Amino acid sequence: MTKLVALDDGHGKNTAGKRTPYIKSLGREIRENEFNEPVVNYLKAELQRCGFKTVLTAPTDADTPLAQRVSIANNAKADLFISIHFNAFDGTFEGKNPEGFSAHIDPSRGQSEVFAKIALKHLAAGTKQVNRGLVLQQLYVTANTKLPAVLFELGFMDNEREALLMLNKNFQKECAKEIAMAVCEYYKVKYVPEAATVKPPTSLVKIGTATMLQDVHAYAEPKFGTQTGDVIKKGKALHIYAIKNGWYQLFNGEYIPSGYGKNFNYEPVKKPEPPKPAAPKPVAPKPTAKPEAAKVDVYRVKVDGEQVGAYGNPKNALEEAEKAIKDGKKKVELERV
Ligand SMILES: [Zn+2]
Repeated sequence: MTKLVALDDGHGKNTAGKRTPYIKSLGREIRENEFNEPVVNYLKAELQRCGFKTVLTAPTDADTPLAQRVSIANNAKADLFISIHFNAFDGTFEGKNPEGFSAHIDPSRGQSEVFAKIALKHLAAGTKQVNRGLVLQQLYVTANTKLPAVLFELGFMDNEREALLMLNKNFQKECAKEIAMAVCEYYKVKYVPEAATVKPPTSLVKIGTATMLQDVHAYAEPKFGTQTGDVIKKGKALHIYAIKNGWYQLFNGEYIPSGYGKNFNYEPVKKPEPPKPAAPKPVAPKPTAKPEAAKVDVYRVKVDGEQVGAYGNPKNALEEAEKAIKDGKKKVELERV
């Protein structure tokens, strides 16, 4: 049966107090709801993609009274209540800088504790933050909802580093994703990752082959982020088309991480033998204008006034002349013309 998850973004847009100290680099304060609301919206999309139904307990920007939030969840007969907040310590960046995330549940524990612990595990896998763990605390929303209920404080507004995370879309999305994965695990439902857009390799020239040493998850981009859901099985060999900082691109555009050599063996394509240095190309003769009829000497042999031969080579002419003399000719002429 489809589970219904009640999502509660803490406070309203302009709730007094609930904001960071003035942040110099930003030139303003950040209101807590600037974080809570987008995370709830991302979480709603995540859960719906995974097949859950959702109900928002504070769908407007107003600071919905806590009693109203609780009755919306109870009346809808929601199965799970999740409230998103950002913690506060002393309202100043001075002095002690608390940090980290925590899951707050009613001291009566029950199923709230089971879900909270799964969620803490997933949150700890994301952005490096201190895991403050489970907090047993009587809060209005967790005490009065008649269902497993967890209130998350996902960082500290009076820690400047974490305060800036509040406006970071990647961080907001990551929190939503990790909590959604926890909901899936809690209800034993397969988590459906956001469809990743895979870009085809820019070159279709195979540069090598990767043979999997273990099952390897594929990613849409050359960085750890959303897995595409594809798993390359151990033993499978795939062509590689590009390598970027330890990420190897497959034919379909997905990337697999080398895992410092643990994930697969990579065999680059053997480079062809470099061609032997070619004989120097004959220099093409410069096209020149038709050479003027070169002046070539011709040696002409005349016997008794009649030409008997004309030669370019004077030797041949001389032979001809000798022959004529030997033949007893009286008048033998050899001239150069
Ligand atoms: Zn709050």
